[in-house]
Amino acid sequence: MTPLGDLLLRRLATTGPITVADYMADCLLHPEHGYYTTRDPLGAAGDFTTAPEISQMFGELIGLCLAQAWLDQGKPAPFTLAELGPGRGTLMADALRATAGVPGFHAAAQLHLVEASPALRQAQQTALGAHHPTWSDTAGDLPDAPLFLIANEFFDALPIRQFIRDGAGWRERQIGVQDGALSFGLSAPAPLAALTHRLDDTQQGDLVETRAPATPVIQAIAHRIARHGGAALIVDYGDWRSPGDTLQALRRHQHEDPLAHPGAADLTAHVDFEALATAAAPAAFTRLTTQGVFLERLGIAQRAQALAVKLSGAALDAHIAAHRRLTLPSEMGSLFKVLGLYPKSNPPPPGLDE
Ligand code: SAH
Repeated sequence: MTPLGDLLLRRLATTGPITVADYMADCLLHPEHGYYTTRDPLGAAGDFTTAPEISQMFGELIGLCLAQAWLDQGKPAPFTLAELGPGRGTLMADALRATAGVPGFHAAAQLHLVEASPALRQAQQTALGAHHPTWSDTAGDLPDAPLFLIANEFFDALPIRQFIRDGAGWRERQIGVQDGALSFGLSAPAPLAALTHRLDDTQQGDLVETRAPATPVIQAIAHRIARHGGAALIVDYGDWRSPGDTLQALRRHQHEDPLAHPGAADLTAHVDFEALATAAAPAAFTRLTTQGVFLERLGIAQRAQALAVKLSGAALDAHIAAHRRLTLPSEMGSLFKVLGLYPKSNPPPPGLDE
């Protein structure tokens, strides 16, 4: 068992079972033993790889998309250029390099990074220090100013709760101790006002996930965009309404039991984009678009060709494989979706439809 696992076994033996959300929060962000608190989990040597780590084209196109939205809205200055959960800072570094030629964009931008992990803040300082970023723990601390924001694989890391339909009520999935090991259990059934709208599309035994911590984050973003202008691109795996149990643990690029290595495996769950869009009320939201279609509309094919000219051999093969990995439906192209937020009086950001 991991150090956090031992700690949880001792704690749960006295306090009783905890929710999946409390378990996720401890596993990911426990101050001493949390997964993100203690390490840089990205890349081949880590546990998972993300789109910006696969190819520079991802961050470049996101950067140009935000810069075009900024131009379309009349170049508001100053404005906040923000990222939620920037990982190693790779996406933002690529976005900034690609937008260096957009007149006035860098001069008006104030870089703001929302990051909980001290280890990853260090990596972001290395990648982005020249652009003088400000860091904060929550999106609520973003300046009251025009906001152009990207969040890639951020919302999937926010804790979820899981409920199983039982009659007109719900049993919550919990984590407790059985025979000296962590194990899943269920609470007694109870009615739940927050899930009334799911009584229509679920049946006995169906599992529904909720993600309360996402709501204040979306509201903080949407209020700024509605009031001051801006745009947000939210990229993640999931769907308009993600059905069933999507809790997953990844360690060394392999799926495993979410209870196997608390604090040493990445824990995520699919994003329910309908819930995010609903919480964005003061801002407009775009149609949910697959990552593959979004990147193609932004011109990834042309960018890939331009980069390929300078490559040969293994580097060219890797570049072609990376392009395919980002866009093909059988790879990341369909599972990953993009939701855009923008002011109601403006057109949606490039690559996305009303
Ligand atoms: N966007 C990056 C990294 C994705 S991993 C990429 O695409 O490569 C998730 C990121 O979100 C990490 O930087 C992690 O430390 C951060 N994170 C996770 N939960 C968070 C929280 N509750 N508050 C702030 N940052 C969080």
